[in-house]
Amino acid sequence: MPWRNPVVTPCNADTLMKKLSAGLWTNTRLRPLVACCALGLGVAGFAHAAAAQATAPAAPQTTSQAKHPSNAQLADPKIEAQVEGLLRQMTLEEKIGQLVQYNDTGDSPTEQTAGAQPAADKAGVIIAVNPVTANHLDAMQLAATGRVGSMLNTIGAARTNTYQHLAVEKSRLHIPLLFGADVIHGFRTVYPIPLGLAASFDPELVTSLSRMSAEEATTAGVRWFYSPMVDISRDPRWGRTAEGAGEDPYLGAAMARAYIRGYQGDDLSKPGRVAASVKHYAAYGAAEAGREYNTTDMSEITLRQVYLPPYQAAVQAGAATMMSAFNSLNGVPASANPFLLSKVLRGEWGFNGFVVSDYTAVMELINHGVALDPATATRKAITAGVEVDMMSHFYDTQLPKLIRSGQVPMAVVDEAVRRVLRVKFATGLLEHPYAEGAEVTAAVAAHRPLVRQAAEESFVLLKNDNLADGAPLLPLSPARKKVALIGPLADEAAEMVGAWGGAGRDPDIITLRQALEERARKTGGTLLYAKGTEIEDTSTAGFAEAVKATSDADVVILALGESNGMSGEAGSRAHLDLPGNQEQLLEEVTAAGKPVVLLVFSGRPLVLDWAAKHVPAILEAWFPGTEAGNAFADVLYGDVSPSGKLPMSFPRALGQEPLYYNQFPTGRPATGIDLSKPPDGDSRFFSRYIDVPNSALFPFGYGLSYSSFSYKDVKVSKASIPLAQALANRATPLVEATATVTNTGSRTATEVVQCYVRNLGASIEQPVRSLKGFQRVTLAPGESKQVSFPLGFNELSFYNVGSAPTVEATHYTVWIGGSSLADQEARFEVAASPAKAGAN
Ligand code: BGC
Repeated sequence: MPWRNPVVTPCNADTLMKKLSAGLWTNTRLRPLVACCALGLGVAGFAHAAAAQATAPAAPQTTSQAKHPSNAQLADPKIEAQVEGLLRQMTLEEKIGQLVQYNDTGDSPTEQTAGAQPAADKAGVIIAVNPVTANHLDAMQLAATGRVGSMLNTIGAARTNTYQHLAVEKSRLHIPLLFGADVIHGFRTVYPIPLGLAASFDPELVTSLSRMSAEEATTAGVRWFYSPMVDISRDPRWGRTAEGAGEDPYLGAAMARAYIRGYQGDDLSKPGRVAASVKHYAAYGAAEAGREYNTTDMSEITLRQVYLPPYQAAVQAGAATMMSAFNSLNGVPASANPFLLSKVLRGEWGFNGFVVSDYTAVMELINHGVALDPATATRKAITAGVEVDMMSHFYDTQLPKLIRSGQVPMAVVDEAVRRVLRVKFATGLLEHPYAEGAEVTAAVAAHRPLVRQAAEESFVLLKNDNLADGAPLLPLSPARKKVALIGPLADEAAEMVGAWGGAGRDPDIITLRQALEERARKTGGTLLYAKGTEIEDTSTAGFAEAVKATSDADVVILALGESNGMSGEAGSRAHLDLPGNQEQLLEEVTAAGKPVVLLVFSGRPLVLDWAAKHVPAILEAWFPGTEAGNAFADVLYGDVSPSGKLPMSFPRALGQEPLYYNQFPTGRPATGIDLSKPPDGDSRFFSRYIDVPNSALFPFGYGLSYSSFSYKDVKVSKASIPLAQALANRATPLVEATATVTNTGSRTATEVVQCYVRNLGASIEQPVRSLKGFQRVTLAPGESKQVSFPLGFNELSFYNVGSAPTVEATHYTVWIGGSSLADQEARFEVAASPAKAGAN
């Protein structure tokens, strides 16, 4: 069964070099090779250092159920009794087995010779990437003896059932395996990348899509998704920006909840449900300079206010598992970070699921320099709160001796096993261990309308100028019969799915060219297709054909952008331009003088400065998935009006990054200064660049429609709220903000109405504005609607110097409008009792 990121190969520098030179760098499964080979260089020092570090005392880990457990099902006394019953019977090896996870090579099943050292190409044989124990592991034998608890990338009913039969029928305690996979935005029927989904501002849609992919994947035996990725990203250089919801914590939290609702619902054991793994905990998206796997370093207030809210929302929505991140945070790797994993996650949020490390993240503690040997890495990870070791091959090799020597208390292992078993019982795995129902092996026809809708909602119309005839270029007039379709992304099925395309099959994907040809056939139009160039190319050989097609056409559609391998894991870029010579192609085609519609494919905001000045219509398309072409045809021809809004700011220049709307104020704001010109004496000493305006080219929350909307009557229900009430009432709204939105255009369309808040006068600086509510509203021409946003403690509070959420006697400004530039405002205050006024 094809899977897009499946293979781990041995830790072997020759293999690595061969793969790299064969141009397979986009395969994310090569990353562990790099980690392992890099680690191999440093491994000689292990033995000497081991003795010194091995004696360090183990920190006690939080044990048993929290007072307010995050997931009620995982705290069910019936499950607890089953877990305890099983735990009592387990040997140490069997317990450790539950904490171990291996990646499946995907080799086709063959017979194993009992007792023989298996060959690497035999079924179930994986190669530990750990250089200390670079041995062959027979995963099927481990399954049959209870020495592995979960598998990664074992996909397909036949394959998962083969493993499962071994675990259930051969192992002493018959504990089933949990099969996990990176189903990020669809299994067989693929929908837009998560960044594109975030642009829909439509959590209900995200829930429906997540449920759909869970239903598809469970038929192939997958019961655990390494999704959602809820890392906030303010820097588009980071390739994994594509996998998350962008720069805003409020939107990120709403999306996080939506995924969990879809995957898990309220009962993990129902058919078609999967356990979610919320990743990558925490703050991975703040990797310095956007460089993959890089350090993150930030204040606790920023961590809590900006980066943690989506993880917390997912935990509160009942997420069954979390994945600890690769990065270090303020000097402590996230996969051995007691503050994140014990204090915040378990202590403050009552998380009662389990934490799996990211791929070899336990081993990478050595590269981080916080462990000199595998034993210390293991001790640090498990005592901090990482229950399952994904692929490091450390827990199984190190824990027995750590337990025997007392460096890791048995109670820590018992508690880790409990957490894993709770999830296994809650998912119903013990009653239904096997893949059930007809296996989904191709995109599902009945799911196509939903993924088509998702693609349409994800598109963001960035620009749509009126042409000489006074009408906007989009939607395309039927009078423009001859269409030139140009660009390396116009007919590339494989590219439409973006990073982590699941098990989507190329033949199931509708490309733009296919959809437009179909339309031309039906309407008597002509489609002239020319690729023009490759995604990353220097040859201009195809330009002449592209320009010729342009000259013969009434309108040009240019499909340009990144390949799907340029974002996602290990897809950091130091340039945010159109790759290769696509910018040159764009300029030459535009120079031919025909109206141009630019479709931008990308896993991140790009710098579209030239296009914004010279191209009349621009649509950000992200990577739309299986129904890409049909969705484009619907939107280009006006069957659907675009409604997406940007989940990340698009910069004017790379040097503005990290650029985000909810920045802190400065002492020298450049308000009222013409930043389009270099400064003169009077306009220099402000927080500004001398060569580019501060603002985004296209800001957060921005996106056009084929209709237009106006806002009026922005009001708040109260002018003043007593501080005591604001502090005491954390459950219900304190004030309501309202506005009337009207469709002022001539067609029915959907607007994402957004509510932003600023808090002035607090003891800690607050962002210049922060999103605190949004709603999708569909209006007929001339129709108006009053939209209201309840604002309570959650929306009005901030973290104080003691890192506690609080409200102070301060002033609030509320804006309601169609982007982060909304300018109609209302104000209210939180007022101290007279004796305390002005106390902060
Ligand atoms: C990625 C995770 C992914 C895991 C398993 C890691 O390299 O960082 O996002 O879930 O591999 O494939």
